Amino acid sequence: MITLEELPLRADLVGQEPYGAPQLDVPVVLNVNENPYPPSPAVRREMADAVVAAAGTLNRYPDREALALRSDLAAYLGHGLAAEQIWAANGSNEVMAHLLTAFGGPGRKVLAFTPTYSMYPEYARNTCTEYVTAPRRADFTLDAASVQDAVREHEPTVLIIATPNNPTGTVTDPDVIDEICAGTDAIVVVDEAYQEFADTPSALSLLPRHPRLVVSRTMSKAFALAGGRVGYLAAAPAIVDACRIVRLPYHLSAQTQAVARVALAHADELLAQVRSLAAEARAFEQWARGRGFEVIDSQANFTLFGRFPDRHRVWQALLDRGILIRETGPDGFLRVSAGTPQEMAALRAALDDINPLEA
Ligand code: PMP
Repeated sequence: MITLEELPLRADLVGQEPYGAPQLDVPVVLNVNENPYPPSPAVRREMADAVVAAAGTLNRYPDREALALRSDLAAYLGHGLAAEQIWAANGSNEVMAHLLTAFGGPGRKVLAFTPTYSMYPEYARNTCTEYVTAPRRADFTLDAASVQDAVREHEPTVLIIATPNNPTGTVTDPDVIDEICAGTDAIVVVDEAYQEFADTPSALSLLPRHPRLVVSRTMSKAFALAGGRVGYLAAAPAIVDACRIVRLPYHLSAQTQAVARVALAHADELLAQVRSLAAEARAFEQWARGRGFEVIDSQANFTLFGRFPDRHRVWQALLDRGILIRETGPDGFLRVSAGTPQEMAALRAALDDINPLEA
């Protein structure tokens, strides 16, 4: 058998590991910010029927432009958006890959604000774009002045601001985004993967004023469709055209488009748990503060909390009790996704059991 070392792998990929959180079969899975509620039997049935209908055309390539889906996504977002301002792909991961393929590349930089989503450096690496970072403030928020300083220092062609930010849950107000966009010619990507959970308004309202602004969204979290793999963006039609140049032909399968359209037709039902999941996360935060943990202010469906003298011990002790959370973020912190009330009760009981603040 040939080994990886013997293959002519790109030099910058040598020694790299595939990225990903552990996928373990345990009773309580709170590690990748999924929605714990599957689609209802009625929605499942409709999805199955849509897949059967799509299967009748599987001898043909799917709609390369996914126009029906993009127009449903535009209607969902509102703000007067139309299909030509929307781009969709297999998860917002692929949307980001399209953006960096189009606007990054050799000799160019993408700037992000750390700690932030751990896939950003991977998109950069894959597209041969230099990944540069600037730190967030001590409370993990962002202010326009320090973002502008970092933009002046690094001169990126793309900057990415996640709000709510993963793994901290902290938000960036649209007024701050507005100021950032006004001060740069770079493409400003606002990653709103968790926006539906937030109280702070979306950056979508800024699109008419800022032609280089991109707002990225996903159906993986609020829509409970992580397995369906649909992410999308809203931006000027010219930015969508740039993504259309670099996408692989027919990148969104007929089944994916069909299932996503059913999910959008039932947006009310699929989004019904968003407020209760946010409330579950906020309630956990209040409980955790009461227990003496340091908790970062979050508006997402997850919480970053610590500071653990030995976070790996805490992570392992929870796993030993059937609860999988995420060892990520700044030293001494762990991230946990909001689950069902039963799952959160199990988490609280387990934390009470293991003295996490002891070394
Ligand atoms: N952006 C952020 C900030 C995320 O946390 C995630 C998922 N963990 C994504 C994008 C990607 O999600 P997906 O590819 O499932 O749309």
